[in-house]
Amino acid sequence: MTSPSWRLDHTAAAEALKLLRSARCVLMPTHQNVDADGLASAIAMSNALAQLGVTARPMVSDGEVPHQLGFLPGIEDVLAYGRDDLPAYDLLCLVDCSDRRRLGDFYADDPDRVNGDVPIVNIDHHVTNDMFGQVNIVVPEAASASEIVADILQAWKTDLTHDIAQCLLAGIYGDTLGLRTDSTTSRTMRTSADLVDAGADPAPIVDALFRVKPRSSVCLWERALRNVQYTGGLIWTELTQDTFDRCGASPGEAEGMVNFLVGTEGSGAAAILYANDKGWRVSLRSLPDGVDVASVAAEFGGGGHPRAAGVQIDGDEDAKRSFVERVGQLARDHR
Ligand code: AMP
Ligand code: MN
Ligand code: MN
Repeated sequence: MTSPSWRLDHTAAAEALKLLRSARCVLMPTHQNVDADGLASAIAMSNALAQLGVTARPMVSDGEVPHQLGFLPGIEDVLAYGRDDLPAYDLLCLVDCSDRRRLGDFYADDPDRVNGDVPIVNIDHHVTNDMFGQVNIVVPEAASASEIVADILQAWKTDLTHDIAQCLLAGIYGDTLGLRTDSTTSRTMRTSADLVDAGADPAPIVDALFRVKPRSSVCLWERALRNVQYTGGLIWTELTQDTFDRCGASPGEAEGMVNFLVGTEGSGAAAILYANDKGWRVSLRSLPDGVDVASVAAEFGGGGHPRAAGVQIDGDEDAKRSFVERVGQLARDHR
């Protein structure tokens, strides 16, 4: 466990509030392939802003509201890019998003949407965050963006309602695997305890994020495990669209598997390669003392955290092989 060394920048929190209050409508697009932290922190923030009279709309950037996150209170009000009309927004607030290219189709369809003409509030905990906002509240020591949002809302003195507390606890649990990762600090635990005191219930979060799954997930895991490969110190597997189709599985259903693989003795890192139109979306993990996967991912244009990172590898089998061999070589030294 690392030490709880961070403090919220109260000046930046006040500046963020001033900017948000000046907006008619704040759009909150999530990072692509959104997880519990990315979506729940945005929902919590929008609820708190509503208390202050500010309209903020969370929006999943690549059109897919993940089925597994259906338990989040307020999920029914989340917009999906491509499905719903874009509201007339005059401010962007990004939470849990390390750079603007992470905004999926919302970015890819028109990069000018995030070129700075519309002011951006940037709240994040990725070491690879490139400080793209007019106001930046970036805390790499925080285990989740939800933890930072909990502090910001306290500074703003908004009511910590049951729904906000439930969302923030879900975000924390999502990124810390239920307070189990190395990034979890005593501060993370204290914030979680405060959220439970405010009415958050961990049980449905644990079930939804870590236990309950459709049968199609069992099919996916079976196929992924059957094809596991070892390259240097890397344990990895690949999932194709064909596998998802045969299992009747939706994207996101295999997310937990890389956390299972990373605990394999003799491996310094784990990866799942999801085949897509351009190549592969890669999910990377390591254990404490393992490879810094954020820096490996950054070498290939991706990013993330030292123990959980991701990257898009464009190209053919050669590009895939070079990537796997590079990570495998680095991971060998960490076994
Ligand atoms: P995942 O394996 O998709 O759960 O991602 C692990 C972590 O890496 C998350 O914090 C992501 O936000 C981050 N991440 C994943 N893919 C990328 C990417 N292409 N660029 C930057 N960060 C990423
Ligand atoms: Mn995230
Ligand atoms: Mn996060």
